[in-house]
Amino acid sequence: MITKRQAEKDSFYLDAFPEPVLVHVVRTRRKTYGLLVRPTGEVEARIPLRGSLKKAKEVAGENLEWILEKCAKQKERSTRRQRLEEESRSRFTPKQRERLEKEYRRVAREYIPKRARYYADILGVDFSGLRIAEQKTRWGSCSQRGTLSFNWKLMLAPARVLDYVIVHEVCHLKEMNHSETFWAWVEFLMPDYKEHRKWLKEHGEELQYY
Ligand SMILES: [Zn+2]
Repeated sequence: MITKRQAEKDSFYLDAFPEPVLVHVVRTRRKTYGLLVRPTGEVEARIPLRGSLKKAKEVAGENLEWILEKCAKQKERSTRRQRLEEESRSRFTPKQRERLEKEYRRVAREYIPKRARYYADILGVDFSGLRIAEQKTRWGSCSQRGTLSFNWKLMLAPARVLDYVIVHEVCHLKEMNHSETFWAWVEFLMPDYKEHRKWLKEHGEELQYY
C-alpha cells in the first residue's frame, strides 16, 4: 500500500524556459499515465499505483509543450479573475452592492416567472416552483420535481441571453437531459440560441463579478 505522505514525496522538475516546471506525482488506480494542470497552475502526473517515476518523467517530457500551454492559460485565467475582482471592488461600496442585489432580485422575481410561463405554455409543460438564487457555478437549473432555479445575476445580462437560460431550463421540463431532442426543443423556442449561449460562455464570468 502507498500512503498519502509517500505519494506526496514524489515530484520532479522538467527543464523548461524561463523556469523549470514542478510536477507532482499522484498515484491512482488508473492503468495509464496521464497529465493534469490544476486551476492553481499545479502540474500533476497521474500514474498507476505501481507505476514508475522514470516513465512519468518520460510522459511529462514528451508533453512539455502541452503542459506549458495549459499553465499559461491557467495563469491568464487567474490574472483575469483577479482583475475582475479588483474592478468589482472599486465599482460599488458594499452598501451600494447590497442595495443593487436587493433590487435586481426583486425585479427577477417579477420578470423571470412571466417569461418561464410564456415558454412553458408554448411547450405545454408546467413547473412546480421557481426560485431566484445565487448559484456559484450555474445560471439556472431544473430539479427532478420540476422546480426551476435562476441566478439573479442573469438580470445583468442582455435580455435575450436571460431568455436563453429560461428557454434552456423550461426545455428540461420536457427532456431531463442534453440529448438531441432537448436541443431541438431549445432551437424551436429560440432559433438563434447558439449566439446567446456563446455570449454567456464568454461573458458569464464578468456577470459574476459585477
Ligand atoms: Zn441543461
